[in-house]
Amino acid sequence: MAEQESLEFGKADFVLLDEVTMEHFMENLKLRFEMGRIYTYIGEVVVSMNPYKQTQLYGKDVIEQYQGRELYERPPHLYAVADAAYKAMKRRAKDTCIVISGESGAGKTEASKYIMQYIAAITNPSQREEVERVKNVLLKSNCVLEAFGNAKTNRNDNSSRFGKYMDINFDFKGDPTGGHINNYLLEKVRPWAPSGALLLGTSDAQLASLHLCRDPAAYRFTSEGASNNLLASDQSNFKDVAGAMKVIGFSLEEIDSVYKILATILHLGNVSFVAEGDAVAIENRELVSQLAELTSTQPESLLRTLLYRAVATGSGEVIEKGHSAKEANYARDACAKAIYERLFCWIVGRINTVIEVKNYDARLHGKNTVIAVLDIYGFEIFDSNSFEQFCINYCNEKLQQLFIELILRQEQEEYQREGIEWQHIEYFNNQIIVDLVEQPHKGIISILDEACLTGGQVTDTMFLESMNTKLGKHPHYTSRKLCATDKSMEFGRDFRIKHYAGNVTYSVEGFIDKNKDTLFQDFKRLMYNSTDPVLRDMWPEGEVSITEVTKRPLTAATLFKNSMVALVENLASKEPYYVRCIKPNDQKSPLLFDAERCRHQVEYLGLLENVRVRRAGFAYRQPYDRFLLRYLPRPPLLASLPPLLAQPPVLGAGRWGLASRAVTGSVCLSQAWRGALARRRCRYLRAIYTIMGHYKRHKVKTYLLELVRRFQGVRSMADYGKGVEWPDPPAVLAQFQENSKLLFRRWRARQIVKNIPPSDMGQIQAKVAAMEVLQGLRKDWGCQRNWGRDYLSSVVENPVMAAQFARRVQALRDKVHFSSVLFSCHVRKINRFNKSRDRAILVTDQHLYKLEPRKQYKVMRTLPLSMVTGVSVTSCQDQLVVFHTRNHDDLVICFHKMQPEEDNRVGELVGVLVDHFKTTKRELQVRVSDCIQLSLRGRKRLVAVEMRHELAFPDFGKSRDGFVLYCPRR
Ligand code: ADP
Repeated sequence: MAEQESLEFGKADFVLLDEVTMEHFMENLKLRFEMGRIYTYIGEVVVSMNPYKQTQLYGKDVIEQYQGRELYERPPHLYAVADAAYKAMKRRAKDTCIVISGESGAGKTEASKYIMQYIAAITNPSQREEVERVKNVLLKSNCVLEAFGNAKTNRNDNSSRFGKYMDINFDFKGDPTGGHINNYLLEKVRPWAPSGALLLGTSDAQLASLHLCRDPAAYRFTSEGASNNLLASDQSNFKDVAGAMKVIGFSLEEIDSVYKILATILHLGNVSFVAEGDAVAIENRELVSQLAELTSTQPESLLRTLLYRAVATGSGEVIEKGHSAKEANYARDACAKAIYERLFCWIVGRINTVIEVKNYDARLHGKNTVIAVLDIYGFEIFDSNSFEQFCINYCNEKLQQLFIELILRQEQEEYQREGIEWQHIEYFNNQIIVDLVEQPHKGIISILDEACLTGGQVTDTMFLESMNTKLGKHPHYTSRKLCATDKSMEFGRDFRIKHYAGNVTYSVEGFIDKNKDTLFQDFKRLMYNSTDPVLRDMWPEGEVSITEVTKRPLTAATLFKNSMVALVENLASKEPYYVRCIKPNDQKSPLLFDAERCRHQVEYLGLLENVRVRRAGFAYRQPYDRFLLRYLPRPPLLASLPPLLAQPPVLGAGRWGLASRAVTGSVCLSQAWRGALARRRCRYLRAIYTIMGHYKRHKVKTYLLELVRRFQGVRSMADYGKGVEWPDPPAVLAQFQENSKLLFRRWRARQIVKNIPPSDMGQIQAKVAAMEVLQGLRKDWGCQRNWGRDYLSSVVENPVMAAQFARRVQALRDKVHFSSVLFSCHVRKINRFNKSRDRAILVTDQHLYKLEPRKQYKVMRTLPLSMVTGVSVTSCQDQLVVFHTRNHDDLVICFHKMQPEEDNRVGELVGVLVDHFKTTKRELQVRVSDCIQLSLRGRKRLVAVEMRHELAFPDFGKSRDGFVLYCPRR
């Protein structure tokens, strides 16, 4: 496997083709497929043929052969592309993306799995636990999404997911830290069928609890959508999926809800309607109660939703309108589809919360880089093409355009580096077709949306008419009306777009319905009112009342367009790598090369265009390439070299001397002359690079030596080297210096912290906590003081009553078993009746108590700390503190009777509380304001501070909108 391929396997890179024609391309593709070489390059693009058989191409040994190698050192492989993307990400901190496209069944999902496997295998050499967890979840999420997106057994005929985008985030070490998944759904043939069928693989008991039987033929959705032989294999598949969901972190309740929702979809398909006089009724009534049970909704509400819809009249009245049988059928299928879609999105969202990168700090962890893997359907052309093909093909136009643009950009940059003048290359410009579809006001999507917005009965034919009027002159649009002689289009039904990959005829049937994607509001409300939290979570819009006028939701086509624009924008910012998958035949045969099918795919994927653009890129041989390729027999040795070298370029033409007799002497001479010039330029460049290299190394060395000299003795310095100045780094080491500074600061902090006695640690932590929330906001927060915390136990501060207080604390400790007193102090407080009193507060690790000092510190109010949401203080030196509580009954106090009298304890209380909340993983809101808002038994009040000369002690008074704290001016 590791050996280089010899010519008998055909050309490992299509760029090496003797001629860029479809015939040569197909010949090479076929030869390689038959020789078991399923991968071939076009430059850096991998063309992948589905082998439809197990091969020895993967696994640990093979991975090792590709790891850290250059693309052309080994035979073409997905691993090589994965490695190239990984290297670009790690060495050059580039965000990269690997775009995998091809039609359904061409091997995209498999390819993305092998790529993920490769990345998982080469990262985290130190086996960090958190990284392993992230990798595991990323790999498992594939299994779950695949099961729900399209069941294994039937996927290639029934998938609803046409694209999956996954970001993998990496830290500066190149280890995965998390990810994010985006899914692109389109209703294709009955999306719910496969995932529903998956459920039939569960245990008998579970089936019974979901009111299901194991026979897929019993359910309309599975029997229409999936073949019946899928159950045997699905039992093991079901176990895998259930296991994967647990690993990812779905709770048992959530998994249970998911099963119920899948069962709901299956049962819904079996609900049938019969006409009863003018009205419509449900034939199988017991299904309604089963559905109500599964969705945790009221049977009557469910029944009404299936049969009626609520309509708000102009006067705000709500009336119920019965569905016709046709409407009821439509609404039922729309519900099933919507439930499936929401379930799928919910699962993706849930996985995303688990794999989301958490606590990432670019200053500590370096730049966060991304490898994105996108697997997406290629161009689709069927006998009858509908809305879905229209969307997919539009997506491909956009991606193809981006693809060509990016390759051209890369080539152009290469030219610039080499100092060669860029030559214009003719290529197919997709912009005109992209515009035809997406342009505002004029494009097909706009015309379709406009048709959907028009009141009254709009038909698909009217939409076609509108397109004919507005797009009649567009060079890429036609229809039977515009081209009456073309009988391959049906009148009043078909239109045709000239795509880059060829002409596609679409039928407008269903465009309006699919674009509107109507789902009655009643149904959303029903689901929102479910008592199953998972289901309810999926239908937030259900909260809106029927009489409220809601904004018209965006249409399916516009949503699709928006997501494609965002996708392309995202990809354009990344360095792209491509895998183009081809399905050799429709029979899943490992032997059959269906030339016609393959040729179509090569066309749709624009592969010849790829080869042309790539080859045009090899500028130095451009004017002669055809000539030379035709006349110069290639020495066998060269075939195994990288294409750039293996091509018979002008550079080496003279030396080979193998030129056929057909080459005339003058051509040889001119080639030799060009060769000599190029060689001279090459020597020149090499010399420049060598000199530059030496100079850079010298600068780096000088810098490092200087660094070592300055920092040598820091360990024994009093300030651990805080005052040492850093030398100026050369540009290449700027980032290195930044990182080193960070490491150095951490090292210093560790040295300092090491010397702090453990008894002081509590105070320091509290001071750090106070600094984080008060520094710069409050004038004095008492940083320089020693923080005594439990002041009421101290005889210095509380000479007469310290013992009483201690007894009270002991009594409380016996009662609630708290473990420490965080703070205590005498306070002045004011209540909602504007009464001001002397009290004390005691804060333990569990409660905040308000005590009455004159009654042996009797407890007047107990507030669990879990009820405290925040504290407010002012920016001045007063001792006002407001505790905010969850039940909007706040506590307003001011410290007093302190020793010394003008002590400043606000910072201390704040610091102690914030620090304590941190250890219990809760957040305490700290607000600094000179006009504090508070709430007493739900009533809003304000409190501010005023200074008064004549006062001896602080005290509260009443103000127009609350209270004032009067403080003595000292
Ligand atoms: P897509 O995602 O493009 O619809 P899949 O990746 O699901 O297609 O491939 C369809 C089937 O083809 C797979 O289930 C597998 O049986 C086979 N297949 C695809 N790629 C490979 C491969 N590299 N090696 C072996 N079998 C493959």
